[in-house]
Amino acid sequence: MTIETDVAIIGAGPSGSFSALFAAESGAKVTVFEEHPTIGSPTHCAGHVSLNGLKQLGLELPSSIVENTFRSAVFFSPSCKRFSVRFPSPVTCAVNRRLLDQHLANIASSKGAQFLLSSRAKPTAKRQNRAKGLLIDVQGEMEKITPSLIIDAEGISSIILKNEGLKPFNDMMVVKAVSAELDGICDVENDSVEVYFGREFADGFYAWIIPKRDGTARIGLGTRDGNPKQCLERFKNDHSIARYKMRKSRFTSITYHSIPLGGPIPKTYANGFLVIGDAASQVKPTTGGGVVKGLLCAKIAGKIAASCVKEGVFSDKFLERYEDQWKQNIKFDMRMLLSARKLLNRLSDREMERVFDMANKLRLQESLIQVKNLDFSKKELIRLGKSPPALATLACFLFSAFT
Ligand SMILES: Cc1cc2nc3c(=O)[nH]c(=O)nc-3n(C[C@H](O)[C@H](O)[C@H](O)COP(=O)(O)OP(=O)(O)OC[C@H]3O[C@@H](n4cnc5c(N)ncnc54)[C@H](O)[C@@H]3O)c2cc1C
Repeated sequence: MTIETDVAIIGAGPSGSFSALFAAESGAKVTVFEEHPTIGSPTHCAGHVSLNGLKQLGLELPSSIVENTFRSAVFFSPSCKRFSVRFPSPVTCAVNRRLLDQHLANIASSKGAQFLLSSRAKPTAKRQNRAKGLLIDVQGEMEKITPSLIIDAEGISSIILKNEGLKPFNDMMVVKAVSAELDGICDVENDSVEVYFGREFADGFYAWIIPKRDGTARIGLGTRDGNPKQCLERFKNDHSIARYKMRKSRFTSITYHSIPLGGPIPKTYANGFLVIGDAASQVKPTTGGGVVKGLLCAKIAGKIAASCVKEGVFSDKFLERYEDQWKQNIKFDMRMLLSARKLLNRLSDREMERVFDMANKLRLQESLIQVKNLDFSKKELIRLGKSPPALATLACFLFSAFT
């Protein structure tokens, strides 16, 4: 098999397929390599995304992909104090990640992108200052390819970018996470996500319950130092509120994966090379939400790939515009969210209790409802920044609930 392509995209996650769509639609020859035999599987994501984020991407999802919509979030402190916020209309939704990934791949395919499954890309030996191709392992058969541009969308396990001399994400800011499907959830409001803080089961992150319309739910948590499997069992069996809600539940699936929380990597381009999505740690440091941010950066990368092919230029100087553009869009927010994450990581459970007290005392839910746009643009953050207690409290709640 001989594979010839202008743009090789490594990984058919949401970021890879979305960049393929924009690169292919203006005529570039685009091939996406995915190591698994099926797109979207295995999935390891809670699929909780902001409706506003999807709208800004111009993504209208078929109803079959959207499992539920939410207009409310309920937060529980380590000692189970409660804080909740309710919006007049839905602000987030839960998507089925397997179907979302397949949907994005189908649209990219319809624009001409080719998908090669069961095809694992490996770096070739590095040549001086230039991405000089990849080895593709197609079920044991090796094929060398030399595309003009490589887009690395491998997710958190990325190896290729290191070969390009780029610095990977900050290992110190990674949480080990688990996502599980559960049947028979009780006593949850169907239009509300639940967020639980507590170092015992989710040090350096939080646990969540995301109900679906059919009485099942997706639950999960992240932990810096703990064992995610044991933390999940502790949360399900011992948490004084959550265990009651899950008393009739059985796990129907459990997957483990890590989430990078250290903010984007310092450089995301090289000669003939771009990095997008989790591989570039384009993930919200507070919530671990990476779908919308990854798609946003993937769209920029795909369009730039198309202009590279059109103009026949693949130099790092040309590709720098990718980094300029994604930074213009998300750098400020990412910086703020990283500060909020660092602040959250320093809080003991006792301090977290005080944050809950403050949120209720300040009636923070009323300010949150005023803000409406939960993606938090620069303008909104600056407005809230005028009230430091409100901002600190907000960091704990809002950033943790809405991805
Ligand atoms: C437990 C958990 C819950 C989460 N919940 C949410 C949430 O609710 N909302 C949200 O927005 N985000 C969430 N995230 C984060 C979200 O899942 C990621 O940000 C998102 O999947 C990143 O997309 P991506 O396309 O960059 O990478 P991925 O989705 O990881 O896709 C990478 C793809 O590349 C393939 N691949 C990797 N290496 C190679 C190779 N060498 N050759 C060929 N193929 C390769 C992989 O098989 C995979 O298909 C969660 C993450 C975890 C772990």
